[in-house]
Amino acid sequence: MSESTLVPLQRLREQLRTPRTSPILPTADSGAGAAEPLDRLGRPLRDLRISVTDRCNFRCSYCMPRDVFGSDHPFLPQSQLLSFEEITRTARIFMGLGVRKLRLTGGEPLLRRHLEKLITDLSGLRTLDGTPPDLTLTTNGSLLARKAQALKDAGLNRITVSLDALDDTVFKRMNDADFPVADVLEGIQAAQAVGLGPIKVNMVVQRGVNDEQILPMARYFRGTGVELRFIEFMDVGNTNAWKMDQVLPSSQVRQRIQGEFPLKPVAGQLQGETAERWAYADGLGSVGFISSVTQAFCGDCNRLRLSTDGQLFTCLFASRGHDLRPLLRAEHSDADIASGLRLLWAQREDQYSQRRAAQGTTTTPVQRIEMSYIGG
Ligand code: SAM
Ligand code: SF4
Ligand code: SF4
Repeated sequence: MSESTLVPLQRLREQLRTPRTSPILPTADSGAGAAEPLDRLGRPLRDLRISVTDRCNFRCSYCMPRDVFGSDHPFLPQSQLLSFEEITRTARIFMGLGVRKLRLTGGEPLLRRHLEKLITDLSGLRTLDGTPPDLTLTTNGSLLARKAQALKDAGLNRITVSLDALDDTVFKRMNDADFPVADVLEGIQAAQAVGLGPIKVNMVVQRGVNDEQILPMARYFRGTGVELRFIEFMDVGNTNAWKMDQVLPSSQVRQRIQGEFPLKPVAGQLQGETAERWAYADGLGSVGFISSVTQAFCGDCNRLRLSTDGQLFTCLFASRGHDLRPLLRAEHSDADIASGLRLLWAQREDQYSQRRAAQGTTTTPVQRIEMSYIGG
């Protein structure tokens, strides 16, 4: 590491150690008639993303660059993690406010010990309609081959696997952990075999890094029942040295695919969906485009994120969280906590990506939370 990078890195590490949060307060609000709160922009709360660990066995350069997340990085101690009981209680309260989808993420969620137990508990919850939650998980796939059956047996519905290249050299350069492509593909096959579908594969596209892998990835997954989704490289966090010129707009990714395989837009896409889906004209499946940079989709964003240590973030680009632990760890009833959470959602007015798009392409120089801390 060069001398000149020492000071900013030091400061970055300090910031990562002390995310800014404020406690959520219970309110005396009866909440009558407001079971499903809307935020200030009229958006309902539907999707809770739960980070179960801030640790990962990969060091993807766009997420946890090794020079920042080195062997001396201060990951959260076990004592600060929410317990499975606390996570399940939180999810139950949120489902009472309208949440229907629960996504486990991280860090690498399959590193959290006994995760199957949490999945079993969460799968027993019910939405306001009395249906089970749509319970899913995002993983780098490294431990999937060995865990797929146990995850399915515990009650997981489906899975999203991240894979940025089919070429081993490119993939290993990106994951910076010498992890081979073949093991992730084996994990995807195991997940398919046990019925954890429909499976989605996320590919973060970085111009000049892995964009040559777009067509090989499309050819490989076409016709397999797996939906490949291309994600624009995002300016999330403060550590990944994001630059607009490394973003390959989804429109260009789509053009490259269309050069080989004609595509047509999928009609009737769900509100709040992050990906715009296009089907192969010959019926051999579909692909998705997550264009958070070039086509912001804040307008119907219904997602809330819960960090491993109990901070709530109303936006992926938030610089401040809301600490749930004081509420969970004092003698408050679920109804009191629900009132505090309803108020938190009602005050939400985040639309970072849309504002960034309107202001141009530069990022604001504020402290933002890391993706590996709150999950994707
Ligand atoms: N470790 C798991 C994984 O990689 O799937 C779950 C956590 S990871 C933070 C969730 C998703 O965020 C992954 O699909 C990853 O590729 C994506 N991601 C991370 N950093 C990103 C960035 N800067 N831009 C776009 N996507 C990013
Ligand atoms: Fe780990 Fe996922 Fe981040 Fe890669 S994207 S470093 S696998 S948390
Ligand atoms: Fe939602 Fe924030 Fe992303 Fe907009 S920038 S889509 S509000 S998480």
